[in-house]
Amino acid sequence: MAFSSERFKQMAHELGFNIAGVIPAQPVGTLAAYFHWIDQEMHGRMGYMARPDRQMRRRDLSVILPGVRSMLLVGLDYFQSTLTEQQLADPSRGRIARYAWGMDYHDVMTKRLEELAAWLKQELPGLSQRVYVDTGAILERGHGQEAGLGFIGKNTMLIHPRRGSYFFLGEILLDVEFDHYDIPARRTMCGSCTRCLAACPTDAFPRPYVLDARRCISYLTIEHKGYIDDALRPLMGNWVFGCDVCQDVCPWQRFALESKEPAFQPRNVRALSPLLTDLLSLDDAAFSVWYGHTPISRIRRERMVRNACIAAGNWGHHDAAPLLGRLLTDASPLVRSHAAWGLARIAQAAARKPIMDCVAREPDADAKQDMRITLDSLE
Ligand code: SF4
Ligand code: SF4
Repeated sequence: MAFSSERFKQMAHELGFNIAGVIPAQPVGTLAAYFHWIDQEMHGRMGYMARPDRQMRRRDLSVILPGVRSMLLVGLDYFQSTLTEQQLADPSRGRIARYAWGMDYHDVMTKRLEELAAWLKQELPGLSQRVYVDTGAILERGHGQEAGLGFIGKNTMLIHPRRGSYFFLGEILLDVEFDHYDIPARRTMCGSCTRCLAACPTDAFPRPYVLDARRCISYLTIEHKGYIDDALRPLMGNWVFGCDVCQDVCPWQRFALESKEPAFQPRNVRALSPLLTDLLSLDDAAFSVWYGHTPISRIRRERMVRNACIAAGNWGHHDAAPLLGRLLTDASPLVRSHAAWGLARIAQAAARKPIMDCVAREPDADAKQDMRITLDSLE
């Protein structure tokens, strides 16, 4: 017997999810566009996205769960307005994408989805199911659109017409049919708007609805582990973890609702709007005090300081110069070379001598090469 879609949605809301939908388990309609995107290597070095086993799962959801019949989707708002416009606009502070202001959403969503899954198991003994939160095997925004939870905007985000795009998605696959399936939202409600495309600091949209991750600040500050292209560094502003620009400028965001989820309430505002001078002084212990249990913890101190060196260079203030000078002898070659770049942006010709000394003693070939590029850029 088919299970009640309404009962599932009621339970999802009781557990705190803000939106919910049910669709038949089928490959997402945007699959061909996704494979084209992978073929064009726009996923950058996120090799896991192109892995053959992941591609197989996206084509055929029964590879994930044999006998799969339905997909349940739930969304949880994370929008917070804790930081003032003044704090957000302050170039002496590092900017952190809103989704990372609270506890790690993987933990929060997974725990909540498992509660939902346990309830379903109680209602339907013998049920088989799989819980997913942002694992990459499921193209959740496309499925979200098919479940009527919003439309995909030109900025590639799933936008709900009454709450914007600041919400997390999670899914449960299960081998049971439902009595009612949701229908897709309108394909797009962007109209002639192009605000997100025009506002992107790094020009990461080659065309509407297509994001070249290799140019995106979110990818560069979070996913990209190595040296950041020196042509992109000046465009990254003071973003040190993620970027919200193409979401913030979207007119649909005026409907964003403040999240009531206690786990997403920011705990340490100083760490969410950090002075760049504080970030440049972070050691491993301080990083873990500030960012443990948040999504930021995954980039560790090394990548956070790398990002802060770029942001400090873009800030261009002499207060950062002594700290960048100190980082020229950091244990990480990645940090040393990005510190040289930041210092060069601030001190210009005066940075030539310390950077030349640094190149002379640099044991890491990639860092040495990166510093040489920085030196070449100086007058
Ligand atoms: S997140 Fe930022 S860098 Fe990435 S596409 Fe959006 S505006 Fe551009
Ligand atoms: S900013 Fe405009 S074009 Fe971009 S996603 Fe929002 S409505 Fe669509």
